[in-house]
Amino acid sequence: MPEEAKITWGNILDYIKERINVQSFNTWFGSSQGVELKGDVLLVEFPNGFFIDWIQEHYYTVLEEAVQHMNGNKLRLAFKALKQEGDRPRRKKKRIILSHDGTRLQERFSFESFVVGKNNEFAHAAALAVAEAPGEAYNPLFLYGGVGLGKTHLMQAIGNFIYRQYKNLRVYYTPAENIMTELIDAIQKNQQMEFKRKYRTKEVLLIDDIQFLYGKERLQEEIFHTFNFLYSQGKQVVITSDRPPKEILTLEERLRSRFQGGLVVDLQIPDLETRIAILHKKAEAENVSIPSNVAYYIASRVKSNIRELEGCLIRLLALASLSGQDVTEQLADEILKDLIGKGSKITKQMILRNVIDEFGFSEAELKGKKRTQKLALARQTSMYLLRTHLSLSLAEIGDFFGGKDHSTVIHAIDKIEHLKKTDLEYFQRFERITSKITS
Ligand code: ADP
Ligand code: MG
Repeated sequence: MPEEAKITWGNILDYIKERINVQSFNTWFGSSQGVELKGDVLLVEFPNGFFIDWIQEHYYTVLEEAVQHMNGNKLRLAFKALKQEGDRPRRKKKRIILSHDGTRLQERFSFESFVVGKNNEFAHAAALAVAEAPGEAYNPLFLYGGVGLGKTHLMQAIGNFIYRQYKNLRVYYTPAENIMTELIDAIQKNQQMEFKRKYRTKEVLLIDDIQFLYGKERLQEEIFHTFNFLYSQGKQVVITSDRPPKEILTLEERLRSRFQGGLVVDLQIPDLETRIAILHKKAEAENVSIPSNVAYYIASRVKSNIRELEGCLIRLLALASLSGQDVTEQLADEILKDLIGKGSKITKQMILRNVIDEFGFSEAELKGKKRTQKLALARQTSMYLLRTHLSLSLAEIGDFFGGKDHSTVIHAIDKIEHLKKTDLEYFQRFERITSKITS
């Protein structure tokens, strides 16, 4: 029923349109079309496969929300590319991206698609061990590392592996933030029992980005009990975070020691060879090959975030395919300028200068010992920006500010995270500084 398909997809688009910026909406969804509704599967067409990749990477959550908002989980989305890209014909298979089989896993995050390098070999080995013997190898497995370094990928690879290998095990993936929302909801509706049952009946529970628990005692309590329950039953728990348990200051001590009782492993920034290998792997998954010099060109410029690395490649391939151009360094250069702006050239001094512009202190004051409220805020903002834009270690940041302790840096990062969410005025200042640094 093409008409019905159009209407259904139209409703989903309306939902999304209100939630993402107009330009992105037009670029990525403007040329999509609902073409067929068969049973509970809605088939949507996009100009080519890169659109589908981009959308999966960036708009998965909002799509999922839109579907839930419309009819509570009944609908599944399948995406199809109108044009086959690459020299070899693309797999004919339509890709079902929202499979509500209850796991919330995305199939593309697998061990097969994960490139192992020096930066992640230990984490990879641990993840594989857990996947092969859930509940027996390491429990919990705690993966940590900076933004875009593969935590979610590795965690979901465990889930997908187990899901395929052991059909009878109930696997469930969830961002910690969602548990929070569900808990609040359950309390309001007086459905705590359902909430408990939902989490305690899983054999494998994957909780992503646990940093969202910072300072949320009730939720920590709930997770602690859930974890203990699952653990005592020999069930597997995997957790990710942007930092190790010992650096989560507001984490309840018993929860922290629980986390440390398993295996704690980190993911580091990949070296150049690994970044190049990731680009080739990604291109291969798209059935295209990219010239080595272009892979080198991109990999040597996008260093600290694999999501951005892939983002550059996908944009590059999309642009080349749409405009019929070859994949060259020049084209890559345009994309890089567009995508990360001066991003690759952000320096410590640049961050400091912009904070100074905004707050009006001197560099010596920022690095000094004095602690008025305003000065502390400027200092904390700088620390936060150094951490998020340059992925400096806590110790490096401490040193840069005249030998401050790493717990001071952690405190600064938590504080700014919190302020950004709760203080509009601060948020605006923060955005002002960020846009100057990145534009
Ligand atoms: P994080 O959760 O740490 O922020 P993700 O797991 O979401 O990061 O990874 C960001 C992107 O980079 C994803 O598309 C993921 O597939 C990709 N990625 C990360 N690490 C690797 C790797 N080692 N090999 C292949 N792709 C990777
Ligand atoms: Mg993640």
